[in-house]
Order: sequence, then C-alpha cells, then structure tokens
Amino acid sequence: MAKISKSAAKERIDQLRKEINGHNYNYYVLNSPVISDFEFDLMLQELASLEKMFPEFASADSPTVKVGSDIAGKKTFEFATRTHRYPMLSLGNTYSREELAEFSDRISKTIPEPCSYSCELKFDGTAICLTYRHGRLAYAVTRGDGVKGDDVTANVLTIKSIPQQLTGDYPDEFEIRGEIYMPFEAFNRLNAEREEIDERPFANPRNAASGSLKLQDSNEVASRGLACVLYHMLGEDLPFTTHSEAIAAAGSWGLPVSEHSKVVDSIEDVNRYIDYWDTERRNLPFAIDGIVIKVNRLDWQRKLGYTAKSPRWATAYKFKPDRALTKLLSIDYQVGRTGAITPVANLDPVPLSGTVVKRASLHNKDQMDLLDIRVGDFVYVEKGGEIIPKITEVDLAKRPADATVPVFPKYCPDCGAELVRDEGQAKHYCPNSNNCPVQIKSGFVHFISRKAMDILAGDATIDQLYEKGYIRHLSDLYSLTKEQLLTLDGWKDKSADNLLSSLERSKSVPFNRVFYALGIRHVGEANAKLLASHFGSIDAIMAADREALVQIDEVGDIMADSIIRWFADPVNLEQIQKLKQAGLKFEQEKTKKVSDTLSGSIFVVSGVFSVSREEIKQFIESHGGKTTSSVSGHTTYLVAGEAPGGEKIKKAEKLGTRIITEEQLRELVAGEI
Ligand SMILES: [Zn+2]
Repeated sequence: MAKISKSAAKERIDQLRKEINGHNYNYYVLNSPVISDFEFDLMLQELASLEKMFPEFASADSPTVKVGSDIAGKKTFEFATRTHRYPMLSLGNTYSREELAEFSDRISKTIPEPCSYSCELKFDGTAICLTYRHGRLAYAVTRGDGVKGDDVTANVLTIKSIPQQLTGDYPDEFEIRGEIYMPFEAFNRLNAEREEIDERPFANPRNAASGSLKLQDSNEVASRGLACVLYHMLGEDLPFTTHSEAIAAAGSWGLPVSEHSKVVDSIEDVNRYIDYWDTERRNLPFAIDGIVIKVNRLDWQRKLGYTAKSPRWATAYKFKPDRALTKLLSIDYQVGRTGAITPVANLDPVPLSGTVVKRASLHNKDQMDLLDIRVGDFVYVEKGGEIIPKITEVDLAKRPADATVPVFPKYCPDCGAELVRDEGQAKHYCPNSNNCPVQIKSGFVHFISRKAMDILAGDATIDQLYEKGYIRHLSDLYSLTKEQLLTLDGWKDKSADNLLSSLERSKSVPFNRVFYALGIRHVGEANAKLLASHFGSIDAIMAADREALVQIDEVGDIMADSIIRWFADPVNLEQIQKLKQAGLKFEQEKTKKVSDTLSGSIFVVSGVFSVSREEIKQFIESHGGKTTSSVSGHTTYLVAGEAPGGEKIKKAEKLGTRIITEEQLRELVAGEI
C-alpha cells in the first residue's frame, strides 16, 4: 500500500468502518446486499492493513474485530436470543494462493510435523448452531453477533434433513455447527413465486436462506425447501482425535454432512482440491463460494487456538465470482401482468458460465439508483445457478463521457397512464389495469394457466382473440362463438371445438382456483386458497373489511389493501357478475358434515401437521367444530403441530386454553378423550 499520512489514514479508517457496518447491516439484517462479497472483502482487507500500519487507531468495535450480526432489528419479528456456549466465530478468508501458503507456513511454526488438512466446500448459506441433548435436538441458534444469536429451533425443525432424534452411539450432549442453504432449484422457484406476486426477489440463495430461516411462520419456512450441511462438532470430552472422524460419526447418527469433503496430506493437495472445485462448482445444484481448509487433528487445533475473531487452524479460500464486463446498450421498461414495471437491461452480448448473456433484470428504480447506472456504462454481470443474470457493479473508471442517466418513465410505456408507486413498495406500476393492453393480455394468459382455470389455449391465441377485439374482459371468453374462433389463423373445426369444450370444463374448477385466476395483485396461488377456504365465497371476501382480512395470519396490509382496491372497481364487480352467470364456481364446496362431535368447541390450529393446516381445519369443521385464527378467551382448544407459533402457545398458556396434538384431536373426534 502506498504511503499515507496519519490523518488521512484516520479519515479512511473511519470511512471504511462506517461503510462496512452499513454493508453488514444490508447483508445480515436486511438480507439485501448492495455490493458483491468480493468488494466487501477488499474493503475489509484495506481496513485491516490500515489498522495494522496505525495500531493507535485500533478499536474493539471495528468490523475487523467484530463479527457482523444477523440479529433482527426492532422492525421485524423478534426471536428469543440465546447465548452461545462457545463463541461462534467467522473464518479468516483469502482470494490468493500466496496467502494460503502463508497460512500453512504459520501452522508449521506451531506444528513442526507434516500436517493433514480437511478440505471442504464452503456452502453459501447462513450459519447455524444445533445443540443435541440425549440425542434430541434441544435448540438451533443463528450465529447472531457471535456471542448470542436468535433461537430458530421451530423453523429449523421444518428442514427435512435435520433429524429431531439421532440414532446410534452419540454423545449425551454436543453442539454441531453448519450452514442452512437453499439449493438453486428451490431458490429459482421461490423467486418466480415472489415475482408473480410483485414481491422483491432475493438477491441470491444465501439471502433467501437466511431470510427464510427468520420467518415468523414455520409452515412458510417448511415450504421454502431449505437444506442443511453440518461441518463442525464441539463438546466436552468428545471421543474423537480428528475432525474428519467426528464429522463421519455425525453422518452415521443421521446428521446431514457433505459428501465432498476430503482429507489431504499437503498444501499442494489442498491446491489441487481447489483447482478441481473452481471448475466443478458450476455443476453443483447449490451455491458454494469457496473452499474451507481445516487442520484435521483436534489436538493440533487446540494447540493453534483462536484470534479474537477466527480460529488459527482454519481458513477459507474464496473463489472470485464468475462475472463478465460488458456494455449497457439500453434499458427497456416491461409491464407485467399486474402492471408492475420492471427495468430490463439490454447488454452487448457476452459469454458467461457457458451461455451468452444479452439481458439482465434491474428489478426496480431503487436498484438502478443504488448501482448509479448510466446507459453506455460498462457493467459487471454475474450469474450463479440462477435463471436471470444480474448486474452487480458499474465500472466507473470506464464510464464514457456520453453515458446518459436513465430516466425512469413517468407514464406506462404501453398505455400512457401515469405510473404510481405505493409507499413501502419497490416497484412502480401502471394503475390502468382495465385498459392497459399488455396487462389485459397477460391477465388472460394468467386466467387460462394450468394452476388457474386450466383452459387449453396458448399466448398466441390470446393475442389473436385480443387483436380481433373478441376479448376485452375475462367473461368475454365464455361468450366466444365457434364462428369467431374459425376466423383465427389456421383454426379448423377441431381446434375451435377443443377450446370451447375446455372453456366448458373450466366451469367446474374449484372456487380457490377461480379466485386465483382473477389475478388480484399480491394474491398468489397459496393465498387464494387460504382466502377461499377462510371466507368460503366471493361474496364473503367482497364483504370483508380490512380488519377481517388481516385477521388471517398470512394476509398483510399490502395484500388486504390490494384486495379491497380490486373490489372497489365497478368494472371488476361487473366481471364477477358475468362470470357467475357464465357458471363459474364462486363458492367453496361445503365441507361435508361427518359428525357433531366437536360442536360447541372453538379451535385454533397452529404449526406443521401430517396433512396441510387447511385439511386439519376442514377436519374440525366436518365434525361440527369452529375454527378461528387467534387464541382468545373463547378458544376451547389450541391444536399444536410441530413448531407452533410461540405467541399462540404463550397466550393459550396464559388463558389456560387446552393445548392438544393432532393425535389428540383425532382421539377427541373418536370419542376417546
Ligand atoms: Zn399501462
């Protein structure tokens, strides 16, 4: 590093600390980083070397000493915190092979014999610490600030690969640490769902994993497809001499461990392992961001010990991200089905991880502002296992003089209506849903889709029907005539008959799917099902006020407002009438009454069961019981599955409400208790 005056160093140190703390907050708490890990690590390295040159500015609060904290701020749901028995440190890391050689040289100063290393994939997830007592999972805690973390046991129990009960010859008590991560498949599915209901997609699988782990609703966590890998066991008097032996034993007790770890005898072999995975990582179904190298013998680990922040016996070699530099040619503003505007970057085509990248999503105006992007800029594009590549950085040094600041449109590029942006929402959208051609057409495409009305027609057919003026509103589909269909390009008797009979069949699609098919903003498939079963009919949903809607756990203010706004539009009300006349189902099939065993009792259902929570509720109702969403003085029973809501349990305990299991509920119906 170049010479720097003391005062300039102080200024730079303060600036770096402030910036790094800000990025730590974005990363750990908001799960929404704005810079790449690589840039972050560079800043941290610069700070560390300045602090080394000017030890007088050292501080115990510096981010080089303190571990970034994931403990939730005040705004989000709060978990109970738990102090770690052994502090949870982070690993030192490097991007350079020279520094890796220095790591091994340092070790040989303390350990004069040849050293074996355990080489492991560095899963890109969020750290977790599990404590097993008498073979049962006692609790699961996030890293937090390294000293104490959030107790997320209920959520961790929903992860299939983590056993609640171990088998075999396990120690009576131990801790095991690892990573909760989200495989690409689950990540891409989750982001597609979020895009569909206009929620901000997660930046990467790691943020998706840590965001999911901190959800309040364990059922929702269960649906996210999280996975886990464990890689570090701690405890008193554990019967192992090496780390690899301990991890192999953990695997034999039923705990998830990596099949890719390898013990090698020299730093040369460590380098070979790194070389292999630097290429092969592109074929993994999950993200890794490097390789972890640990001294394998546990007595040597103890001898090497720890610095304030990390162990001396382990380090991480991090891969530089796969990225390419290319020119931003222009930005398109696309109108989505519900009117949301998505800026899409058109790039000078560039090869990246086996494909040619031409377009990348910029998500929304905030993202564009954060990147400070200009048309004509040179930008870095990154692609993990994710479907859509993303722009992570602008190369400011390469900014041409004629680069232009993009102007986010004020008016809809499709229909010209003035765009709006709701408070707290990332996206701008076109409010002219009933007259905006792109929205109308994609509304039809949504309506006929498989998960909605399942009508056998393609986007091209919708386009033609729209261009010919046959369809403007959803109900128009049900008055299409064979004569009209025969005017479409290439349509014959058979294709027309097929569509007409498919439309006829759609009249028996159950209400929850009809409700989803309407395409109300923020109402995805799962929420439509929930609302349909909670209210039972479109009339009941229409009559529900904001308060009645947000009564349902999963319905937040944004969704409630969106539903109310949709039903306030007379065009939509007229459509409901017409679709009713066409014969579509606007009422939930009544749950068949089986018995009156539970009549007079009021139930609240919480947690994860052998069947869906809705099925549990239907079971109760089929036996004459009533269900409500929150525990009150009127509640007779709280039916608690695995990982029930902590607040509900607390309230039930306070009020003296009986808490029963799924099994006990079934016994209750059978008259056994
Ligand atoms: Zn529009």
